[in-house]
Amino acid sequence: MKTITAQKPSEEVMQYLEKCQGVYLIGCGTCATLCHTGGKSEILEMKDKLEASGKKVTGWMVVPTACDELTKYALQENAEDIAAADCILAMTCAVGVQTISLHLKEPKPVYPALDTLFLGMEESPGHFIEVCMQCGGCVLGRTASICPLVRCAKSLLNGPCGGSVGGKCEISPDVLCAWQMIYDRLAEMGRLDEMEEIEPVKDWSTSVSGGPRKIDIEAECVAPHQEETEAPAK
Ligand code: SF4
Ligand code: SF4
Repeated sequence: MKTITAQKPSEEVMQYLEKCQGVYLIGCGTCATLCHTGGKSEILEMKDKLEASGKKVTGWMVVPTACDELTKYALQENAEDIAAADCILAMTCAVGVQTISLHLKEPKPVYPALDTLFLGMEESPGHFIEVCMQCGGCVLGRTASICPLVRCAKSLLNGPCGGSVGGKCEISPDVLCAWQMIYDRLAEMGRLDEMEEIEPVKDWSTSVSGGPRKIDIEAECVAPHQEETEAPAK
């Protein structure tokens, strides 16, 4: 599983940097490097671009995994060059941006150079597809391990919708119909009768719609909003 990112348009990045003369660049050696959006070569390209537009790049680094706690030590080691910049341009996913911002010694703007698209599973080398939106209430047990929330264009929990043609989704002949896939896989397993079970209306309070989710692994506690909304045991 990788966090898939895409570079923002140059105009958007330059708009962020309008008020900054000195810029420090940070890339990520894991997902952004794999996506060719924030590895060493993209950082050096960005450096050239910024310098050509009159900015001063006070330094750059590619941290091993930007979203990791260890990023804090990389920031400390490069504190002098970072202090000389008016802002940081993070060529990392959104979690990396927030990790950098959290661990900066002096408050300083951290601007994202990338758009964070989705968590992707590698289908074949270099080809990633979104397979989970981390809804907090998994239904894969009923859907032959194919997520209807992200694979179906309508996120139908009870499908198909009737628009599927030849196994393809009505939104595009290049997109497989998730519910056709679910049907085929259930049929292979002799579980087609499960298609007749109706999945009840989803409780979205376990998703991000219920507020920011948190977990304390040591205390084995779940998201506070989950505890609050849980129905009492019968
Ligand atoms: S049902 Fe929810 S948890 Fe399960 S794969 Fe889909 S988005 Fe992820
Ligand atoms: S055609 Fe299939 S994938 Fe597309 S919206 Fe309908 S059920 Fe979902």
